[in-house]
Amino acid sequence: MTAVTLAVSTSAGTARPPQDSTTAPGPVAPARAAALDACLLHGDPAVQMSEGIPTVRGYAHSTGTVRALTLMVDFPDAPGRGSAPDRFAEFLPQTRAWYRTSSYGRLDYRAEAPIPTWLRMPKPFKEYGIERGAPFDPGYRTLVQDIVAAADPKVDFRAYDLLNVLVTPNAGPSALDTVLSVTFAGNLDAPVADGVPVANASFVYSRQDDGSGSYGRTGYRVLPHENGHAFGLPDLYTADGGGAVGHWDIMSEDWGANNDLLGWHKFKLGWIDGTQVSCAATRGTADYELTPLALAGGPKLVVVPVDRHTAYAVEVRTRAGNDEAVCRPGVLIYRIDADVDTGHGPVTVFDAHRDTGGCTHSPNVHAELSDAAFRPGESFHDPQHGIRITVTGAMTGGGATQSPEPKVSAIEATGVSGAGRTEASGSPGSRKPPGASGVARTSGAPVYRVRVTRDTDTGRG
Ligand SMILES: [Zn+2]
Repeated sequence: MTAVTLAVSTSAGTARPPQDSTTAPGPVAPARAAALDACLLHGDPAVQMSEGIPTVRGYAHSTGTVRALTLMVDFPDAPGRGSAPDRFAEFLPQTRAWYRTSSYGRLDYRAEAPIPTWLRMPKPFKEYGIERGAPFDPGYRTLVQDIVAAADPKVDFRAYDLLNVLVTPNAGPSALDTVLSVTFAGNLDAPVADGVPVANASFVYSRQDDGSGSYGRTGYRVLPHENGHAFGLPDLYTADGGGAVGHWDIMSEDWGANNDLLGWHKFKLGWIDGTQVSCAATRGTADYELTPLALAGGPKLVVVPVDRHTAYAVEVRTRAGNDEAVCRPGVLIYRIDADVDTGHGPVTVFDAHRDTGGCTHSPNVHAELSDAAFRPGESFHDPQHGIRITVTGAMTGGGATQSPEPKVSAIEATGVSGAGRTEASGSPGSRKPPGASGVARTSGAPVYRVRVTRDTDTGRG
């Protein structure tokens, strides 16, 4: 069947970190924080897992060295086939490399498997009641307790930042039918091991093998997705599938060709710092330069806040780094809603070319949004809030200017629903953009120029 178009996994358990507690160290240096204040979205306290910055306490830290205790687990009714190290090798060191690339080296992800054999659980798999969407209690609590009891003689849980449980693939249904993989994140009510709660635990089941022959190369990607939850990132797909964000973030789609994270997520994780982010909060017109998100250094993100919970984000996506599925490079524009919970559409990507079918034929890549990026001469417009974002130019590393394309389209956003229409409009980018001097970038990489116009200051609603 071709029904497998999204990696479905639920996130977070019934327990969650207190939203009003002291927040964890964020990615923003104090001096820069004031200038960015209007762009650090506040999560609604009722939201289990929000896009707000900084991430609340309880999740694993996402910069520096992260130690991931990785255990391969089997059951009396589903004995492990093949060796436990082979199961480990389906995900590592690929996941380590994925994080190194996406974080520009800011996350040193170290997965360790101190028990190089299958860790046998005392009860049959079916007795734990593990189903898709199953809550932490009682099944997962029992499973974690049994894992801790089995591993504790050989493992000091205090030495690790998160737990990966790689379940033998023959336990439970095929991922082609039901994806069970799940992370219980920020779960301070979890069972305690060596005096610390197992607060961030990712469980990976089956194999996300779409039959296209790429499993050996890309099938590991469920693990960086699940660990993304351990770092506090919400699911971006919804009950309707991956149509909100498409393949622009691994928290939206983690089957198929490799992909990266949105710039907002990299900012939230501390991989982009405040000096690489601009906050367009005041009325008037301002121009910004952006370098490709996949390349280290330079300006990466423009945030245009609507209110305390909602903003537009602007970034450049090209085929580089982890972004191997990009078929139409350009400026990606999306809306972030910090008061929308995981799995309910906290991010919405705007499609510069609607109803085209997209530009990709890659399996498991949401096609329609694959050509979502805006190019010179194209603009996004939110008439309700008086915000217009226009791509005014793109320059190669050699300094040559790329003229705006003659055919111009604009997206008209209608309030928070995000429903828009494509229309032709006059070219707002007819002038030649100035050079990109002063922008640190990799030689030869394109620099995009973006103009933000807003009629009013950011509302505080
Ligand atoms: Zn997920």
